[in-house]
Amino acid sequence: MTGGPYSGDEFDGVPRQEGAVGVPDAYQRLWVPYRMAYIRSNHTGPSAGGHDQECPFCVAPTLSDEDALIVHRGEHAYVLLNLFPYNSGHLLICPYRHVPLYDEATPDEVGEIAALTQTAMRVVREDSRCDGFNIGFNQGAIAGAGVAGHLHEHVVPRWAADANFFPIIAGTKAIPVLLGDTRAALAAAWPA
Ligand SMILES: [Zn+2]
Repeated sequence: MTGGPYSGDEFDGVPRQEGAVGVPDAYQRLWVPYRMAYIRSNHTGPSAGGHDQECPFCVAPTLSDEDALIVHRGEHAYVLLNLFPYNSGHLLICPYRHVPLYDEATPDEVGEIAALTQTAMRVVREDSRCDGFNIGFNQGAIAGAGVAGHLHEHVVPRWAADANFFPIIAGTKAIPVLLGDTRAALAAAWPA
């Protein structure tokens, strides 16, 4: 192929490395290794892992399921709807403990978060017939975590036609289902 980003020994100006693999996307990379000193200087240490009354993910389990948009309560972790969804059915899976980072979660918490993620996929897929998912953790404010102090995993259903022009021209996302209705439907579909 000639003329595209693939050209000979480079991809987007980055030298190919023998044996390296990856999935090309639409973004160009700006390689700024000197920023690592700044990034490292902003590292915040692990928290005590207690309960924080200012933290929405600590407060939510003290409320009713309806008020907190909780879909399911497990033993070590729980599932709730994101109040600021990227798409309808956008779930968050949180440990009850106020810990910021995945490697601070206990094996019990990690195991239950993983199991709840699988169940969330099945429940959301059955409810909304989505075509795919984005699943992941943003950890630390620098990585985009809105509530950086309390670990939470995003489970975002995707449809082939879900990305329209609204987010680009209006800064607005069109969410076609009310949060309370979505919560009730997913809670009812969640296996006992
Ligand atoms: Zn918290």
